[in-house]
Amino acid sequence: LPFSPPKTKRAADMLAGAKALPMLINGEWVSAQTGETIPVQDPASGKEIAQIGRGAAYEVDAAVAAARKALPGWGKLTPRKRALVLHRLGDLIDENVEELSELETLDQGKPYSVSRWAEIPSAAKQFRFFAGLCQAIEGKTISPSVEYQPEGRDVHAWTLREPMGVIGAIVPWNSPLVLTAMKVAPALAAGCTVVLKPAEATSLTALRLGELALEAGLPPGALNVVTGYGHEAGSALASHMDVDKIAFTGSTATGRAIVDASKSNLKRVSLELGGKSPAVVLKDADLDLVIPGLANGIFFNAGQVCVANSRAYIHKDIYDKVIEGIAEYGSKMQMGHGLNPDTVMGPVVSRVQADKIQSYIDDACKAGGSALGGGQFGDNGTFIKPAVVTDVGQSSPINRDEVFGPVIVATPFEDTADAIDMANDTDFGLAASVWTTDFSSAHRISRVLQAGTVWLNAHSMFDASLPIGGVRQSGYGRDSGVTALDNYLEWKTICAVV
Ligand code: NAD
Repeated sequence: LPFSPPKTKRAADMLAGAKALPMLINGEWVSAQTGETIPVQDPASGKEIAQIGRGAAYEVDAAVAAARKALPGWGKLTPRKRALVLHRLGDLIDENVEELSELETLDQGKPYSVSRWAEIPSAAKQFRFFAGLCQAIEGKTISPSVEYQPEGRDVHAWTLREPMGVIGAIVPWNSPLVLTAMKVAPALAAGCTVVLKPAEATSLTALRLGELALEAGLPPGALNVVTGYGHEAGSALASHMDVDKIAFTGSTATGRAIVDASKSNLKRVSLELGGKSPAVVLKDADLDLVIPGLANGIFFNAGQVCVANSRAYIHKDIYDKVIEGIAEYGSKMQMGHGLNPDTVMGPVVSRVQADKIQSYIDDACKAGGSALGGGQFGDNGTFIKPAVVTDVGQSSPINRDEVFGPVIVATPFEDTADAIDMANDTDFGLAASVWTTDFSSAHRISRVLQAGTVWLNAHSMFDASLPIGGVRQSGYGRDSGVTALDNYLEWKTICAVV
């Protein structure tokens, strides 16, 4: 597959020969105690581009101890000083945007334009947004109705917001740096320290973030990056007795395992999990918005987006036009290596993932469904063509499971109430969208859809200021927005006789 050579030295070095990358513990760069590494591949070509350390319980213990040691210093720094460090880290991400974008594209496969213009700048914006909140962390004053208070004395009460402590942040591979920033930025802003466990398939930008954090002036131990497998490093972190909270983004199955592991010390947990987000398209929708909106909502990042509109319920009168429009839009998307400037859709992250996506499409077709588009190809078998799947029932696996690929299942409806019932008929509740020119319908339906976010005439619009997270089996807690600080702060009540 053709591509332009990387412009930055680090990315070029990766392509020139697989390099062993140490992890960051207590401000030092260290290899795994066992000396073991995990190979990292460019998913477009299958070429090995790096090896990351295979961290496990030993490294997690060391990183948690470092984070614990760094906690009082970082937590007690004045909020303005914390804000300066986070602003500087945002600046450094921007200053290194090209290098970080090339690393993200080589590691994950996504088009360079997506890394360069969407995801890496969004990571910088997370640090800036939460830098701005460092000085806005506030408690409340309360007037309690205490029955037994000493004669002639008053009772004054107030609350403080205190850092939760040592945070274990565990993140997935689909949008590595921005999802990392969505945990690390609010945690550091709240005065917590962090042990970050990036996904084993995509750790390159997390390791670079560790370097930039030190350069920005973050004290050693305040951010540690332990690379390794989920069942080793991840589970050691989730069950660790000295971790106060796990902030997790990933699959619902792993979220459940983390909740079980967290029982060790009853640590707090917030979960941003999977989705099967519906789009409800009413008869009066503006098709100039609907067709590109639904196509981009599901095909962006090759469908590896937790909120992607993987189900569409479309009014029967416009059904054919919409599905044909989405299929045509998908068929024109230029696929290729992420470092090819013409590419708008790259591979999915691995062969295993591509095989899984294709088997969902094949099984749906064997069971009587039809697919417009679809098909696996590429040197490494990691490319999947955009697909619109039709004529499958509500209970079909492709309509219920999170496929996490460029595949949308379309179902026609006649009665809006049926569309709402079908949209809500899922175990998930991450996001949804409504497409209509009638604002009353849009408002009414947005209230009854069971999802953490509902977009109107749009899908997948993000900003550091907009809370994102799920209901039901899509998890609990919210990333982004002012409310994300709640994930990293405890309430302390002070009640005084004065
Ligand atoms: P995953 O659950 O397999 O892995 C996520 C992370 O958890 C990785 O770092 C992995 O190493 C680690 N892990 C795996 N097993 C573990 C264990 N037993 N204990 C502790 N850690 C463990 O998810 P994935 O396949 O990397 O990512 C895709 C999933 O992430 C999808 O389900 C997607 O919807 C979800 N996601 C959700 C959001 C959101 O905001 N809700 C955003 C992006 C992705």
